[in-house]
Amino acid sequence: MSVPFIDLVKQYKSIKEEIDQAISEVVESQYFVLGPKVGELEERIADYCQIKHGIGVASGTDALLLSLMALDIGHGDEVITTPFTFFATAGSISRLGAKPVFVDIDPKTYNINPQLIADKITEKTKAIIPVHLYGQCADMDPIMEIAEKNNLYVIEDAAQAIGAKYKGRMAGSIGHLGCLSFFPTKNLGGYGDGGMVLTNNKELEKKVRMLRVHGSKIKYNHSVVGLNSRLDAIQAAVLLAKLKYIDQWNESRRKNADLYNSLLTDLADVVTPFCHEYNYHIYHQYVVGVKDRDNLKEYLNKNEISTQIYYPIPLHLQDCYQELGYQKGQLPVSEKTADEVLALPIYSEVTKSQQEQIVNAIKDYLVK
Ligand SMILES: *Cc1c(COP(=O)(O)O)cnc(C)c1O
Repeated sequence: MSVPFIDLVKQYKSIKEEIDQAISEVVESQYFVLGPKVGELEERIADYCQIKHGIGVASGTDALLLSLMALDIGHGDEVITTPFTFFATAGSISRLGAKPVFVDIDPKTYNINPQLIADKITEKTKAIIPVHLYGQCADMDPIMEIAEKNNLYVIEDAAQAIGAKYKGRMAGSIGHLGCLSFFPTKNLGGYGDGGMVLTNNKELEKKVRMLRVHGSKIKYNHSVVGLNSRLDAIQAAVLLAKLKYIDQWNESRRKNADLYNSLLTDLADVVTPFCHEYNYHIYHQYVVGVKDRDNLKEYLNKNEISTQIYYPIPLHLQDCYQELGYQKGQLPVSEKTADEVLALPIYSEVTKSQQEQIVNAIKDYLVK
């Protein structure tokens, strides 16, 4: 039986009535952009993430962009981040004319290595963007400490980590700003693009709110140049309906991860995910490390088991960043990791027998 990488249809069918009802209410109201539904979602997500303010925006990428804009980051500025992430993390920095400065990752968690940050700070550095990769928080304590010492802002890229916890604190609530994505395949996914900026800072909240509607507080009065980055009401309605299930879905991803871990224990060639005991990992992705990754992926594919690579090329080696002047070998942990990682199906609806089928296929390949 074939195993898809993710099955959103299965999830939809399990809550179809609620979702259809929520969407139909919005259609009946004909209030599609921002409005009361978006306001309600902002409050509910802020509560959930244990933070004062949530600002609904058009995508996770825009959440990053607007956060940087709210901090007045642009030409001549540098922002420290990880090269082992989705492109949007660095792309949003470059979009504003600022320069991403890449710091290598921790070989176990694949998150930014805090010990390597201090060396990269210059007079131009304005902020650090740690990414909570695959649903596990980056090591925030040392990052916040370095930031405080050097007067830098911290923007958490929590696009993969809604509901994850670091030492009991919610992902996205620790830095000066936190960014969420509601892309359909994220742990809390809408039915289109969507995102949210989180902050405890009233000034930053006001700024982001203004920037998402063309820098305007009073209609047709523009105090700064912003963008059109509004969240729409259909997304808010779907997300409100789904928010009730996020803990349950995250828990079942964790259970699925436990099952993989135990099924894979005796396979010396497979490195299972490392999770710090102080972290509550929500397994946006379940990622194993395998030296012979590409051939294994192909073998699984032939056996109708779908897997993914997050991410095959670290950002410092992307064509669009040649101008930054990085060489191969400069960020060795990211480069090695990019060659070895393989994400297995981990969505909450994947069944035990599917997981067993996947592991058996991995064994067939590796122990042949
Ligand atoms: C998904 C993602 C984003 C961007 O979110 P979009 O909603 O797709 O724009 C940013 N950073 C990371 C780490 C992501 O996984």
